[in-house]
Amino acid sequence: MNNFQLTKALTISDAVRAGGESQTSQQGAQVRFIAGGTTLLDLMKLDVENPRVVVDINRLPLGQIEPLGDGGIKIGALTRNSDVAQHATVKRDYTVLSQALLSGASPQLRNMATTSGNLLQRTRCVYFRDTAYPCNKRKPGSGCAAIGGYNRMLAILGTSEHCIASNPSDQNVALAALEATISVHGAKGERVVPIHDFFVVPGSTPERENVLEPGDLITHVSLPALPGRTRSYYLKLRDRAAYEFALVSAAVVITQEGGTIRRARVALGGVGTKPWRSPEAEGALEGRATVEDVFRNAARDALNGARPASENGFKVELAQRCLVRCLKLATQSA
Ligand SMILES: Cc1cc2nc3c(=O)[nH]c(=O)nc-3n(C[C@H](O)[C@H](O)[C@H](O)COP(=O)(O)OP(=O)(O)OC[C@H]3O[C@@H](n4cnc5c(N)ncnc54)[C@H](O)[C@@H]3O)c2cc1C
Ligand code: SF4
Repeated sequence: MNNFQLTKALTISDAVRAGGESQTSQQGAQVRFIAGGTTLLDLMKLDVENPRVVVDINRLPLGQIEPLGDGGIKIGALTRNSDVAQHATVKRDYTVLSQALLSGASPQLRNMATTSGNLLQRTRCVYFRDTAYPCNKRKPGSGCAAIGGYNRMLAILGTSEHCIASNPSDQNVALAALEATISVHGAKGERVVPIHDFFVVPGSTPERENVLEPGDLITHVSLPALPGRTRSYYLKLRDRAAYEFALVSAAVVITQEGGTIRRARVALGGVGTKPWRSPEAEGALEGRATVEDVFRNAARDALNGARPASENGFKVELAQRCLVRCLKLATQSA
């Protein structure tokens, strides 16, 4: 690992000032924040990330989950994944988030990993993590070894000719279905970004993964109140039962009245270059009965735009089956 200087941020302004010295607070930057360290330190050991200064933000008062006036909740950026997953309100009202977090990594990792670090974890594309190969995300303009290479785990939605990396997070899929908002404190003040607008697809600039600007510090993630009679579910399919990233996953948040779906929010994981919300599937569900044919149509619509690479064509059907099963589980649990 390269030499770097570690500084501790005691206030949010300290952190933002330190981050602002950098070209960007994100990818490839000279100054980086460290939360749980379970992504950043791995990438530093692999020589993929080489920050000059690492700013430890763990002393900032951002580790709480608090109720919001409108019935929603506010999750501090530094709240550990384990604490969020086991929080009584999250388990009861935002089940999909608890399930998604518990399906990820291992108990030890979840005890370290934070809400903001999870939000910003990098792709598991093997070429991104190996400096011997070309990778447009790691080194813009160098090429993409995954297109035509080992791409079984990678994305089929939102890809470009420059990058087909999938967003690996389970948490982010649940947050997309819950319509979370992300509060950011930056050099120009505070702002709130809906998760839908937070992540960007690779296009011709795969090195940029989100809308964070130089010095931006995520302070918390908010979840809106959900209507009564809403049930949610997260289903993850992977090569082994634990300690493995999703091949495909589905997060659904469904409000039912009798046997009819009044409101549906659907997001897919493992298939998108960003957590993949599907308005197409939602449109195919709302106002319709909770029956398998309807679920199948929604799943077909969700994968309509899929563009598989050489090794991941199986994800189209697997993701459809995953979504159908997830919808069954969510609606049966009502
Ligand atoms: C072996 C292994 C298996 C895993 N399996 C899974 C899995 O199955 N599913 C899954 O979803 N994840 C999995 N993960 C990923 C894990 O969830 C992430 O590593 C973790 O969530 C990152 O959180 P962190 O706090 O440790 O992030 P860090 O490493 O501290 O930070 C990650 C990034 O976020 C930035 N950052 C952190 N906080 C802020 C902030 N407040 N504002 C601005 N920038 C910030 C950092 O600068 C860095 O770029 C796995 C990881 C490992 C090592
Ligand atoms: S898919 Fe993206 S991350 Fe993977 S090698 Fe290609 S450019 Fe790099």
